[in-house]
Amino acid sequence: VTLRRPPLLLYHSVADAVDPRFAEWAVTPELFAAHMELLAGEGYCALTVREFVEHTFKQREPLPPRSVVITFDDGFADFHSLAWPVLRRNSLTATVFVATGFVGRTSSWLADLGEGDRPMLSWPQIEEVASAGIELGAHGHRHLQLDTVPESRAGWDIARSKRALEAAVGTVSSFAFPHGYYTSRLRRQVARAGFSSACAVKDALSSTREDRFALARVVVRGSTDEDAFARLLRGEHVSAAPRAGPLRRGAWRAVRRAGGEPIATRIRELL
Ligand SMILES: [Zn+2]
Repeated sequence: VTLRRPPLLLYHSVADAVDPRFAEWAVTPELFAAHMELLAGEGYCALTVREFVEHTFKQREPLPPRSVVITFDDGFADFHSLAWPVLRRNSLTATVFVATGFVGRTSSWLADLGEGDRPMLSWPQIEEVASAGIELGAHGHRHLQLDTVPESRAGWDIARSKRALEAAVGTVSSFAFPHGYYTSRLRRQVARAGFSSACAVKDALSSTREDRFALARVVVRGSTDEDAFARLLRGEHVSAAPRAGPLRRGAWRAVRRAGGEPIATRIRELL
């Protein structure tokens, strides 16, 4: 059986006017519509992360020939106002990973990028999109760099985000590591908390041989125009900022733990 490797796309915000320091993390509503129309026009079938994991890792069934998984990290309110209507219009579904401690508040962790006041989804909005078939996944409670905090605090944060979300929408099976950071210890903690998968950020197309607790996603950036998006779907995406290997990741983690990194180097890691 030849198992397909659908692209797992990672969006953050769909918005027009953002601070230039945040621009890579926001696609305009027009560009987002162009991306989704391209998917629909090419006959892509969207799966939630949960559906993708069930097909690929549990049932081991081949996926429809043109499958795609669309994900949104953080839980910005613009998912409800700007992204969701476009998804609906194109009969596409998605998974939204919510940092539960910020629900109904603002993105205060983004203050360094001049975007600390972005409205986040409210609980009623989360319930509304969930009841319409959007999958809600957990993204931690406080949006911490989980690999830099004590194990017990990381475990609490992971479990707390699951409980908070489940109180609103029922069973939550998918997790996404805040900032994309994970370790083998964190993968085990996420599994122990009862999730069936975890998404990372690897700027790579997903492989079915990979660990379902470290699913690779490609970041769709503000600069990903229609041509770049089409290339990305074909797997021709070349990462602008390749993720470091294990050794360099460890060194980088030590720097982050010490709190010594300058803002400029932190920007691409901030979400
Ligand atoms: Zn995030």
